[in-house]
Amino acid sequence: MRVLLALGGNALARSDGRVRPEDQIDAAQVAMDAVADLLTRDVEVVLTHGNGPQVGNLLVKNELAAAVVPPVPLDWCGAQTQATLGLILMNALEHALTERGLSRPCATLVTRTLVDGDDPGFARPTKPIGRHLSDAEAAVLVERGETWEDRGAKGWRRVVASPEPREIIDAPAVTALVDAGFLVVANGGGGIPVVRDGSGLRGVEAVIDKDLGAALLARTVRADVLVVATDVPAAVLRYGTPEAEPVGRVTVGRLRELAAEGHFASGSMGPKVDAACRFVERGGQYSVITNLEHIVDGVAGEAGTVVVPNG
Ligand code: ADP
Ligand code: MG
Repeated sequence: MRVLLALGGNALARSDGRVRPEDQIDAAQVAMDAVADLLTRDVEVVLTHGNGPQVGNLLVKNELAAAVVPPVPLDWCGAQTQATLGLILMNALEHALTERGLSRPCATLVTRTLVDGDDPGFARPTKPIGRHLSDAEAAVLVERGETWEDRGAKGWRRVVASPEPREIIDAPAVTALVDAGFLVVANGGGGIPVVRDGSGLRGVEAVIDKDLGAALLARTVRADVLVVATDVPAAVLRYGTPEAEPVGRVTVGRLRELAAEGHFASGSMGPKVDAACRFVERGGQYSVITNLEHIVDGVAGEAGTVVVPNG
């Protein structure tokens, strides 16, 4: 069985959100211990991951160091975080495998994902990134062509497009490595968004939703199962109310209805539910939304929110 496992930001940070290097390394170890447990059960795993907090930190460095070193564009930040997170995930995985008497070649791919230059997201950016700034600081960046939104007492926050991922440009490399037996880390942060530009590709100032990128990667590598690992054991109806109720096994049609009723917040659980549905609608066996603690049972379709085809 081939599983595409998407690790949320929480899998790469401390539970309080801190992302010092040691926090990221510790969190990666917890996640890779879970992955090693899967590998001992003969599950083939392809990994992808979020990068929101890490890109946020790079943007702060850009901003604070701008007078000394030239700021780098968002696609460079994406590439840098794919490489760094790949490094710590591979180190952690090798450690976990050695402890279990196993070994497995690993590889991390800098992965570009094609988006449409005329995606509606570019006309109306919605995805908040980086830290809050004062009116005056934000004004300088607006002057440079960035889009910033007034968030009241918190200050101003940059927003960028979150375009639809259309095609994983580096998919052939992912597939070749997976088929050759490598454990591959790919398409981190949803992939580095690029558009076609004449005869080549050009990075754009946008971020792809990690979960939607994971759904596309899962189909591209012909995974049987998509597992979205986050910090809650399941998607929940009436989340945060006394009538909260976890969703267990559910058909994709029913889950789409529940999503349309507004149960899943658009910036967090919403894209996970959408990704889980897309994967099954496009022919995947099932999708699972759960946390790392339940990952082994989740992969087997026996824990978390398990999304199955209709009928
Ligand atoms: P990740 O970093 O794993 O992508 P997110 O923070 O984006 O995680 O999404 C997971 C969060 O979604 C949970 O911690 C929870 O607070 C929130 N959430 C919002 N709506 C729901 C819901 N209906 N059911 C479960 N969790 C929800
Ligand atoms: Mg998220």
